[in-house]
Amino acid sequence: MAQKKSFSLDDLAKAHGIERKVEEKKEDYSKYEPKKYKERNNFTPKSSNSTLFTYPFNFVSLGDKVEKEERKLGKNSGKIECSLINYTPIFTGGEKSKSGKHTTEQFLEDKDNYIISASTLKGEIRNIIETITHSCIRCKNEEIVPEEFKPCDNLKRLCFACRLFGTTVEKADENGNSAYSGRVYFSDAKLPKVGNSTTVITLKPMGEPRETLKKYYLDRFGEIRGRKFYWHHTNQLENKKNYQNYENIIKDRAKPTTTTVHFLKPLKTFSFKVEFKNLTDIELGMLIYALELEKDLLHKIGRGKALGLGSCKISINSFELFEENRYNFSSFTPNRKVEDKNIYLEKIKNRYLENNSQVKQLRVILNEKNKLDFSKGAYLRRDSNKGNMPEILSYK
Ligand SMILES: [Zn+2]
Repeated sequence: MAQKKSFSLDDLAKAHGIERKVEEKKEDYSKYEPKKYKERNNFTPKSSNSTLFTYPFNFVSLGDKVEKEERKLGKNSGKIECSLINYTPIFTGGEKSKSGKHTTEQFLEDKDNYIISASTLKGEIRNIIETITHSCIRCKNEEIVPEEFKPCDNLKRLCFACRLFGTTVEKADENGNSAYSGRVYFSDAKLPKVGNSTTVITLKPMGEPRETLKKYYLDRFGEIRGRKFYWHHTNQLENKKNYQNYENIIKDRAKPTTTTVHFLKPLKTFSFKVEFKNLTDIELGMLIYALELEKDLLHKIGRGKALGLGSCKISINSFELFEENRYNFSSFTPNRKVEDKNIYLEKIKNRYLENNSQVKQLRVILNEKNKLDFSKGAYLRRDSNKGNMPEILSYK
Protein backbone atom coordinates (compact mmCIF):
# COMPACT_ATOMS: atom_id res chain seq x y z
CA MET A 1 0.00 0.00 0.00
CA ALA A 2 1.34 3.40 -0.92
CA GLN A 3 1.68 5.84 1.94
CA LYS A 4 -0.74 8.72 1.64
CA LYS A 5 0.41 12.28 1.69
CA SER A 6 -1.10 14.52 4.30
CA PHE A 7 -3.31 17.48 3.44
CA SER A 8 -4.74 20.26 5.49
CA LEU A 9 -8.40 20.76 6.18
CA ASP A 10 -8.05 24.25 4.78
CA ASP A 11 -7.09 22.75 1.43
CA LEU A 12 -10.00 20.39 1.68
CA ALA A 13 -12.39 23.17 2.54
CA LYS A 14 -11.07 25.28 -0.32
CA ALA A 15 -11.47 22.41 -2.76
CA HIS A 16 -15.10 22.23 -1.77
CA GLY A 17 -15.60 25.97 -2.06
CA ILE A 18 -16.24 26.63 1.60
CA GLU A 19 -14.82 29.34 3.74
CA ARG A 20 -12.83 28.28 6.72
CA LYS A 21 -11.23 30.54 9.20
CA VAL A 22 -9.99 28.08 11.83
CA GLU A 23 -6.40 26.84 11.93
CA GLU A 24 -6.05 23.09 12.18
CA LYS A 25 -3.27 20.53 12.25
CA LYS A 26 -2.39 18.47 9.18
CA GLU A 27 -4.56 15.43 8.71
CA ASP A 28 -3.04 12.11 9.77
CA TYR A 29 -3.83 9.53 7.15
CA SER A 30 -2.50 6.47 8.92
CA LYS A 31 -5.82 5.89 10.65
CA TYR A 32 -7.78 5.30 7.46
CA GLU A 33 -8.30 1.85 6.03
CA PRO A 34 -6.34 0.98 2.89
CA LYS A 35 -8.19 1.72 -0.31
CA LYS A 36 -9.92 -1.19 -1.97
CA TYR A 37 -11.87 0.17 -4.87
CA LYS A 38 -13.90 -2.86 -5.77
CA GLU A 39 -15.01 -3.36 -2.22
CA ARG A 40 -16.06 0.22 -1.83
CA ASN A 41 -18.71 -0.06 -4.52
CA ASN A 42 -20.51 -2.78 -2.58
CA PHE A 43 -20.01 -1.15 0.74
CA THR A 44 -23.11 -0.01 2.59
CA PRO A 45 -22.20 2.82 4.94
CA LYS A 46 -22.98 2.44 8.61
CA SER A 47 -24.77 5.75 8.37
CA SER A 48 -27.86 4.16 6.80
CA ASN A 49 -29.30 3.53 10.26
CA SER A 50 -28.27 6.77 11.86
CA THR A 51 -30.77 9.38 13.00
CA LEU A 52 -31.78 12.03 10.51
CA PHE A 53 -30.64 15.48 11.47
CA THR A 54 -30.59 18.91 9.91
CA TYR A 55 -27.32 19.88 8.27
CA PRO A 56 -26.89 22.39 5.40
CA PHE A 57 -25.39 20.00 2.87
CA ASN A 58 -24.98 16.37 1.99
CA PHE A 59 -23.14 14.30 -0.59
CA VAL A 60 -24.44 12.67 -3.75
CA SER A 61 -22.53 9.41 -3.97
CA LEU A 62 -20.04 9.05 -6.81
CA GLY A 63 -21.62 6.05 -8.50
CA ASP A 64 -20.05 3.93 -11.21
CA LYS A 65 -16.65 4.38 -12.67
CA VAL A 66 -16.28 7.39 -14.96
CA GLU A 67 -16.65 6.56 -18.67
CA LYS A 68 -14.00 8.22 -20.81
CA GLU A 69 -14.37 8.50 -24.55
CA GLU A 70 -12.90 10.21 -27.55
CA ARG A 71 -14.54 13.56 -28.42
CA LYS A 72 -17.18 13.39 -31.12
CA LEU A 73 -18.65 16.42 -32.83
CA GLY A 74 -22.42 16.47 -33.09
CA LYS A 75 -24.66 18.42 -35.45
CA ASN A 76 -26.40 20.74 -32.99
CA SER A 77 -25.28 24.36 -32.82
CA GLY A 78 -27.41 27.21 -31.57
CA LYS A 79 -28.48 29.14 -28.52
CA ILE A 80 -30.78 28.89 -25.54
CA GLU A 81 -32.23 32.00 -23.87
CA CYS A 82 -32.99 31.60 -20.18
CA SER A 83 -34.44 33.43 -17.24
CA LEU A 84 -33.41 32.88 -13.64
CA ILE A 85 -35.64 33.77 -10.69
CA ASN A 86 -34.24 33.76 -7.16
CA TYR A 87 -36.80 32.37 -4.69
CA THR A 88 -34.65 33.22 -1.68
CA PRO A 89 -32.32 36.23 -1.32
CA ILE A 90 -29.22 35.85 -3.48
CA PHE A 91 -25.68 37.15 -3.21
CA THR A 92 -22.71 37.01 -5.60
CA GLY A 93 -19.69 38.97 -4.47
CA GLY A 94 -18.62 42.20 -6.16
CA GLU A 95 -16.59 45.08 -4.82
CA LYS A 96 -15.22 44.72 -1.27
CA SER A 97 -14.45 47.38 1.28
CA LYS A 98 -12.89 47.08 4.73
CA SER A 99 -13.52 48.93 7.91
CA GLY A 100 -11.02 47.68 10.46
CA LYS A 101 -11.21 43.89 10.25
CA HIS A 102 -14.78 43.83 9.01
CA THR A 103 -15.54 43.40 5.29
CA THR A 104 -18.51 44.71 3.36
CA GLU A 105 -19.29 43.33 -0.12
CA GLN A 106 -21.50 44.74 -2.86
CA PHE A 107 -23.52 42.55 -5.19
CA LEU A 108 -21.59 42.03 -8.45
CA GLU A 109 -22.69 44.75 -10.87
CA ASP A 110 -21.89 46.87 -13.88
CA LYS A 111 -23.23 50.35 -14.56
CA ASP A 112 -26.75 49.27 -15.42
CA ASN A 113 -27.18 45.74 -14.13
CA TYR A 114 -26.79 43.35 -11.24
CA ILE A 115 -24.80 40.37 -12.44
CA ILE A 116 -24.43 36.65 -11.83
CA SER A 117 -21.23 35.82 -13.66
CA ALA A 118 -21.05 33.40 -16.57
CA SER A 119 -18.51 31.30 -14.67
CA THR A 120 -20.86 30.94 -11.68
CA LEU A 121 -23.66 29.75 -13.97
CA LYS A 122 -21.39 27.43 -15.90
CA GLY A 123 -20.02 26.00 -12.65
CA GLU A 124 -23.49 25.18 -11.38
CA ILE A 125 -24.62 23.54 -14.62
CA ARG A 126 -21.36 21.65 -15.03
CA ASN A 127 -21.57 20.37 -11.47
CA ILE A 128 -24.99 18.86 -12.13
CA ILE A 129 -23.88 17.29 -15.40
CA GLU A 130 -20.74 15.89 -13.76
CA THR A 131 -22.88 14.27 -11.09
CA ILE A 132 -25.36 12.69 -13.49
CA THR A 133 -22.73 11.44 -15.94
CA HIS A 134 -20.21 10.25 -13.31
CA SER A 135 -17.58 12.59 -14.70
CA CYS A 136 -14.14 13.19 -13.24
CA ILE A 137 -13.60 15.31 -10.13
CA ARG A 138 -11.35 18.35 -10.55
CA CYS A 139 -10.15 19.00 -7.07
CA LYS A 140 -6.96 20.50 -5.77
CA ASN A 141 -6.42 17.59 -3.42
CA GLU A 142 -6.24 14.67 -5.79
CA GLU A 143 -5.19 12.54 -2.83
CA ILE A 144 -8.73 12.33 -1.58
CA VAL A 145 -10.29 11.59 -4.98
CA PRO A 146 -10.80 7.86 -5.68
CA GLU A 147 -8.56 6.57 -8.44
CA GLU A 148 -11.36 6.09 -10.99
CA PHE A 149 -12.57 9.70 -10.57
CA LYS A 150 -9.23 11.45 -10.85
CA PRO A 151 -9.22 14.36 -13.35
CA CYS A 152 -8.94 13.45 -17.03
CA ASP A 153 -5.29 13.50 -18.13
CA ASN A 154 -5.55 12.60 -21.79
CA LEU A 155 -7.36 14.84 -24.31
CA LYS A 156 -8.19 11.78 -26.40
CA ARG A 157 -10.08 10.13 -23.56
CA LEU A 158 -12.28 12.56 -21.68
CA CYS A 159 -15.24 12.17 -19.35
CA PHE A 160 -18.64 13.54 -20.40
CA ALA A 161 -18.24 16.91 -18.64
CA CYS A 162 -14.71 17.52 -19.95
CA ARG A 163 -15.86 16.69 -23.49
CA LEU A 164 -18.69 19.21 -23.18
CA PHE A 165 -17.14 22.01 -21.11
CA GLY A 166 -13.44 21.55 -21.77
CA THR A 167 -10.43 20.87 -19.58
CA THR A 168 -6.69 21.27 -19.31
CA VAL A 169 -4.28 18.38 -18.86
CA GLU A 170 -0.76 18.40 -17.48
CA LYS A 171 0.96 16.66 -20.37
CA ALA A 172 0.56 18.02 -23.91
CA ASP A 173 -0.28 15.51 -26.65
CA GLU A 174 1.88 14.90 -29.75
CA ASN A 175 0.46 18.09 -31.35
CA GLY A 176 1.38 20.20 -28.35
CA ASN A 177 -2.22 20.56 -27.13
CA SER A 178 -2.82 20.57 -23.41
CA ALA A 179 -6.19 22.28 -23.31
CA TYR A 180 -9.60 21.73 -24.83
CA SER A 181 -12.00 24.64 -24.59
CA GLY A 182 -15.36 22.93 -24.79
CA ARG A 183 -18.45 23.68 -26.85
CA VAL A 184 -20.78 25.53 -24.45
CA TYR A 185 -20.58 29.28 -23.79
CA PHE A 186 -22.50 31.08 -21.06
CA SER A 187 -23.21 34.81 -20.91
CA ASP A 188 -23.44 36.64 -17.60
CA ALA A 189 -26.96 36.72 -16.16
CA LYS A 190 -28.19 40.30 -15.87
CA LEU A 191 -30.89 42.09 -13.95
CA PRO A 192 -31.42 45.76 -14.88
CA LYS A 193 -30.99 48.06 -11.90
CA VAL A 194 -34.41 49.51 -11.25
CA GLY A 195 -35.92 50.44 -7.93
CA ASN A 196 -34.67 49.25 -4.61
CA SER A 197 -33.49 45.70 -5.20
CA THR A 198 -30.76 45.15 -2.63
CA THR A 199 -30.78 44.87 1.14
CA VAL A 200 -27.81 45.18 3.44
CA ILE A 201 -27.29 42.42 5.96
CA THR A 202 -24.44 41.18 8.13
CA LEU A 203 -24.36 37.40 7.81
CA LYS A 204 -23.47 34.86 10.46
CA PRO A 205 -20.06 33.27 9.85
CA MET A 206 -20.32 30.92 6.89
CA GLY A 207 -17.49 28.63 7.95
CA GLU A 208 -18.44 25.25 9.27
CA PRO A 209 -17.91 23.92 12.75
CA ARG A 210 -14.39 22.50 12.61
CA GLU A 211 -15.15 19.01 13.82
CA THR A 212 -17.52 18.27 10.95
CA LEU A 213 -15.04 18.67 8.14
CA LYS A 214 -13.21 15.37 8.20
CA LYS A 215 -16.07 13.61 9.90
CA TYR A 216 -18.52 14.33 7.10
CA TYR A 217 -16.36 14.76 4.00
CA LEU A 218 -14.32 11.59 3.98
CA ASP A 219 -15.37 7.97 3.92
CA ARG A 220 -13.62 5.27 5.89
CA PHE A 221 -10.92 5.03 3.24
CA GLY A 222 -10.04 8.69 3.68
CA GLU A 223 -11.58 9.60 0.33
CA ILE A 224 -14.34 12.09 -0.48
CA ARG A 225 -17.69 10.46 0.04
CA GLY A 226 -19.40 12.18 -2.84
CA ARG A 227 -20.24 15.48 -4.51
CA LYS A 228 -21.45 18.17 -2.19
CA PHE A 229 -24.90 19.77 -2.58
CA TYR A 230 -26.78 22.12 -0.26
CA TRP A 231 -30.36 21.56 0.85
CA HIS A 232 -32.93 24.24 0.09
CA HIS A 233 -34.43 25.91 3.15
CA THR A 234 -38.05 24.96 2.58
CA ASN A 235 -39.46 27.25 5.24
CA GLN A 236 -37.74 30.26 3.61
CA LEU A 237 -38.93 29.25 0.14
CA GLU A 238 -42.48 29.31 1.43
CA ASN A 239 -41.97 32.84 2.71
CA LYS A 240 -40.90 34.27 -0.66
CA LYS A 241 -41.27 38.03 -0.30
CA ASN A 242 -41.82 37.86 3.45
CA TYR A 243 -38.22 37.17 4.20
CA GLN A 244 -37.86 39.53 7.16
CA ASN A 245 -38.06 36.70 9.71
CA TYR A 246 -35.44 34.94 7.70
CA GLU A 247 -33.15 37.94 8.08
CA ASN A 248 -33.43 37.58 11.83
CA ILE A 249 -32.19 33.99 11.62
CA ILE A 250 -29.16 34.64 9.44
CA LYS A 251 -28.05 38.07 10.60
CA ASP A 252 -25.28 38.85 13.07
CA ARG A 253 -23.38 41.92 14.22
CA ALA A 254 -20.29 43.33 12.49
CA LYS A 255 -17.12 41.57 13.68
CA PRO A 256 -14.04 40.11 11.98
CA THR A 257 -15.67 36.70 11.38
CA THR A 258 -18.81 38.10 9.77
CA THR A 259 -19.31 39.78 6.42
CA THR A 260 -21.79 42.48 5.55
CA VAL A 261 -23.29 41.91 2.12
CA HIS A 262 -25.69 43.65 -0.20
CA PHE A 263 -27.99 40.83 -1.24
CA LEU A 264 -30.82 40.90 -3.74
CA LYS A 265 -34.34 40.47 -2.50
CA PRO A 266 -36.32 37.40 -3.63
CA LEU A 267 -38.26 37.10 -6.91
CA LYS A 268 -35.95 39.06 -9.21
CA THR A 269 -35.68 37.87 -12.81
CA PHE A 270 -32.27 37.69 -14.44
CA SER A 271 -31.72 36.75 -18.07
CA PHE A 272 -28.82 35.00 -19.75
CA LYS A 273 -28.06 32.92 -22.81
CA VAL A 274 -26.13 29.77 -23.51
CA GLU A 275 -24.58 29.27 -26.94
CA PHE A 276 -23.34 25.89 -28.08
CA LYS A 277 -21.75 24.33 -31.10
CA ASN A 278 -21.47 20.81 -32.45
CA LEU A 279 -23.26 19.08 -29.61
CA THR A 280 -24.53 15.55 -29.99
CA ASP A 281 -28.22 15.01 -29.25
CA ILE A 282 -27.32 13.50 -25.88
CA GLU A 283 -25.07 16.43 -24.96
CA LEU A 284 -27.79 18.93 -25.89
CA GLY A 285 -30.34 16.92 -23.91
CA MET A 286 -28.06 16.94 -20.89
CA LEU A 287 -27.50 20.70 -21.14
CA ILE A 288 -31.26 21.35 -21.37
CA TYR A 289 -31.93 19.03 -18.43
CA ALA A 290 -29.26 20.59 -16.21
CA LEU A 291 -30.59 24.10 -16.93
CA GLU A 292 -34.27 23.50 -16.18
CA LEU A 293 -33.98 20.44 -13.94
CA GLU A 294 -37.40 18.98 -13.14
CA LYS A 295 -40.60 20.21 -11.54
CA ASP A 296 -39.97 21.23 -7.89
CA LEU A 297 -36.16 21.04 -8.25
CA LEU A 298 -34.18 24.26 -7.82
CA HIS A 299 -30.60 25.38 -8.33
CA LYS A 300 -28.45 26.94 -5.61
CA ILE A 301 -26.45 29.87 -6.88
CA GLY A 302 -24.04 32.33 -5.29
CA ARG A 303 -22.73 32.57 -1.75
CA GLY A 304 -24.33 31.79 1.61
CA LYS A 305 -25.79 28.50 0.44
CA ALA A 306 -25.55 27.05 3.95
CA LEU A 307 -27.73 29.91 5.17
CA GLY A 308 -30.34 29.19 2.51
CA LEU A 309 -29.44 31.92 0.06
CA GLY A 310 -29.56 31.51 -3.72
CA SER A 311 -32.38 29.02 -4.35
CA CYS A 312 -33.23 29.67 -8.01
CA LYS A 313 -35.37 28.40 -10.84
CA ILE A 314 -34.00 28.55 -14.38
CA SER A 315 -36.46 28.46 -17.29
CA ILE A 316 -35.75 28.18 -20.98
CA ASN A 317 -37.59 30.92 -22.90
CA SER A 318 -36.35 30.22 -26.39
CA PHE A 319 -34.35 27.56 -28.07
CA GLU A 320 -32.84 27.94 -31.50
CA LEU A 321 -30.74 25.68 -33.68
CA PHE A 322 -28.78 26.44 -36.82
CA GLU A 323 -29.47 24.44 -39.87
CA GLU A 324 -27.09 21.54 -40.10
CA ASN A 325 -23.51 22.40 -40.96
CA ARG A 326 -24.21 26.11 -41.12
CA TYR A 327 -22.46 27.21 -38.00
CA ASN A 328 -22.47 30.97 -37.77
CA PHE A 329 -23.75 32.82 -34.74
CA SER A 330 -24.90 35.81 -36.79
CA SER A 331 -27.53 33.90 -38.71
CA PHE A 332 -29.79 31.97 -36.41
CA THR A 333 -32.64 30.12 -38.00
CA PRO A 334 -35.51 29.97 -35.55
CA ASN A 335 -36.35 26.47 -36.70
CA ARG A 336 -37.13 25.10 -33.25
CA LYS A 337 -40.01 25.78 -30.95
CA VAL A 338 -39.22 25.82 -27.25
CA GLU A 339 -41.24 22.60 -26.87
CA ASP A 340 -38.78 20.87 -29.18
CA LYS A 341 -36.37 20.66 -26.28
CA ASN A 342 -38.33 17.57 -25.24
CA ILE A 343 -36.94 15.75 -28.27
CA TYR A 344 -33.48 16.04 -26.74
CA LEU A 345 -34.59 15.31 -23.18
CA GLU A 346 -36.11 12.10 -24.50
CA LYS A 347 -32.68 11.06 -25.80
CA ILE A 348 -31.09 11.08 -22.36
CA LYS A 349 -34.03 9.61 -20.48
CA ASN A 350 -33.22 5.91 -20.71
CA ARG A 351 -29.51 6.08 -20.37
CA TYR A 352 -29.07 8.85 -17.81
CA LEU A 353 -32.28 9.74 -15.99
CA GLU A 354 -33.90 6.39 -15.26
CA ASN A 355 -32.36 4.04 -12.72
CA ASN A 356 -29.52 6.46 -12.08
CA SER A 357 -28.85 6.53 -8.36
CA GLN A 358 -27.20 9.95 -8.61
CA VAL A 359 -30.32 11.43 -10.27
CA LYS A 360 -32.47 9.89 -7.52
CA GLN A 361 -30.32 11.63 -4.92
CA LEU A 362 -30.43 14.94 -6.81
CA ARG A 363 -34.23 14.69 -6.90
CA VAL A 364 -34.20 14.65 -3.11
CA ILE A 365 -31.54 17.21 -2.29
CA LEU A 366 -32.49 19.74 -4.98
CA ASN A 367 -36.20 19.51 -4.15
CA GLU A 368 -37.71 22.75 -2.91
CA LYS A 369 -39.59 20.74 -0.29
CA ASN A 370 -37.67 18.67 2.23
CA LYS A 371 -38.01 17.47 5.80
CA LEU A 372 -35.14 19.48 7.21
CA ASP A 373 -35.85 22.31 9.60
CA PHE A 374 -33.58 25.30 9.17
CA SER A 375 -35.85 27.64 11.09
CA LYS A 376 -33.22 28.00 13.81
CA GLY A 377 -30.23 28.46 11.52
CA ALA A 378 -27.88 26.38 9.41
CA TYR A 379 -25.38 24.71 11.71
CA LEU A 380 -26.69 23.40 14.97
CA ARG A 381 -23.79 22.63 17.26
CA ARG A 382 -25.47 19.81 19.12
CA ASP A 383 -25.95 17.96 15.84
CA SER A 384 -22.25 17.44 15.53
CA ASN A 385 -22.52 14.64 18.10
CA LYS A 386 -25.15 12.69 16.27
CA GLY A 387 -22.86 10.30 14.47
CA ASN A 388 -22.34 9.88 10.75
CA MET A 389 -24.23 11.93 8.23
CA PRO A 390 -27.18 9.91 6.90
CA GLU A 391 -27.36 9.31 3.16
CA ILE A 392 -29.47 11.67 1.05
CA LEU A 393 -32.04 9.01 0.16
CA SER A 394 -32.82 8.38 3.81
CA TYR A 395 -34.23 11.94 3.93
CA LYS A 396 -36.78 11.10 1.25
ZN1 LIG B 1 -12.93 14.79 -17.00
